[in-house]
Amino acid sequence: MSKVLVIGCGGVASVAIHKCCQVSEVFTELCIASRTKSKCDELAAKLAPVTATKITTAQVDADDVQQVIDLINAYKPDLVMNIALPYQDLTIMDACLACGVNYMDTANYEPEDTDDPAWRAVYEKRCKEAGFSAYFDYSWQWAYRKKFEEAGLTALLGCGFDPGVTQAYCAYAKKHEFDSIDTIDILDCNGGDHGYAFATNFNPEVNLREVSAPGSYWEDGHWVEVAPMSIKREYDFDQVGHKDMYLLHHEEIESLALNIPEVRRIRFFMTFGQSYLNHMRCLENVGMLSTSPVDFEGQQIVPIKFLKALLPDPASLGSRTRGKTNIGCIFTGKKSGRDKTYYIYNVSDHQECYREVGSQAISYTTGVPAMCGALMLLTGKWNKAGVYTVEEFDPDPFLAALDQYGLPRSESRMPALVD
Ligand code: NDP
Repeated sequence: MSKVLVIGCGGVASVAIHKCCQVSEVFTELCIASRTKSKCDELAAKLAPVTATKITTAQVDADDVQQVIDLINAYKPDLVMNIALPYQDLTIMDACLACGVNYMDTANYEPEDTDDPAWRAVYEKRCKEAGFSAYFDYSWQWAYRKKFEEAGLTALLGCGFDPGVTQAYCAYAKKHEFDSIDTIDILDCNGGDHGYAFATNFNPEVNLREVSAPGSYWEDGHWVEVAPMSIKREYDFDQVGHKDMYLLHHEEIESLALNIPEVRRIRFFMTFGQSYLNHMRCLENVGMLSTSPVDFEGQQIVPIKFLKALLPDPASLGSRTRGKTNIGCIFTGKKSGRDKTYYIYNVSDHQECYREVGSQAISYTTGVPAMCGALMLLTGKWNKAGVYTVEEFDPDPFLAALDQYGLPRSESRMPALVD
């Protein structure tokens, strides 16, 4: 029996809410709150006839800590699921601390305004010291560790697929398959086709910021940064086939390097089609990916926000997308003194996801782990005070929940390795 407040009602939140409503015995009451309340009302009306979960809705601007505090105090949830945008992570964490409520999200903090001088000073210092230049990193949220510990509250960070399930796969490999892990390659393959020349599968602004940034990987105790999309490999993915994939910086590398300290190298690869890359390069070259406002006919316009308004809403891609995703981790390491390789991954079918919850597989593979993470916290299976990433908890009940609720694992002990 629990009350959960979900903040955000976009592509990922919609899937997480659908899945929570399938587990009404745990998610007995749900409040869906977002900036645009009509979207929450629409989803609540759709789900009310098919679930025993009692759903209410609310309007909230989660950039405003006081509004979130007022909402939490009025609703009194056991957990706040932040499935809005990474920009709201800190304000929602502050509100959770003020009200004594557990917190979780699906992506680590990044500022909306990357020109803010106070943020920029910290960012530039971090770029020099840490050696990677992505706008997002864990330091902002790890700074809350002591506060959550002292308050006896849990903050679960990045509980989507990647980050999220990929870290649970790492914890599982460490617990069951290896005495020591030498290398981890995280492979994120989307073999889906939505028929548009260019569209992003989740929030365009967050997605394009991520993929247009320099790539980086962890090797021998430090970051190696490379030009965007400059490391390309081809891989033959189970149930998808051959795809080109490119090395990206990705947030879970940062926490995995800390939590599995013996690992010599951690890389992250994502597949992209040629049309996506051509469009992205062109948009970047003409300045459309910029986050800095420009003056246009007397108005301040942020190019990437304007672009977002032109692109298809990721939530609308579900009915059009055909094909499968394949996301997982390949490990090398040692077990009982012998060399070993292991691959654990999930394959999801876009159309099956759409039939079940009305969303494509990218939102599905993020929303299901968010629900399963909430399930772990609400049922006490994951229970420790502080700020944690997924690999810091027992992976077994989480992977069992993923198997049960729509993201079953596949395994191979003789995978092709990435050179
Ligand atoms: P969407 O843009 O589809 O949805 C975002 C939602 O947040 C919208 O409902 C939006 O409201 C709401 N929102 C935005 N700003 C505010 C605010 N200030 N106050 C209240 N609500 C707000 O994004 P996605 O669903 O695609 O992504 C959600 C999250 O999941 C993101 O953080 C993304 O980075 C993360 N993600 C994580 C993945 C993983 O594997 N870990 C993979 C994919 C995404 P409105 O409708 O008014 O715009």
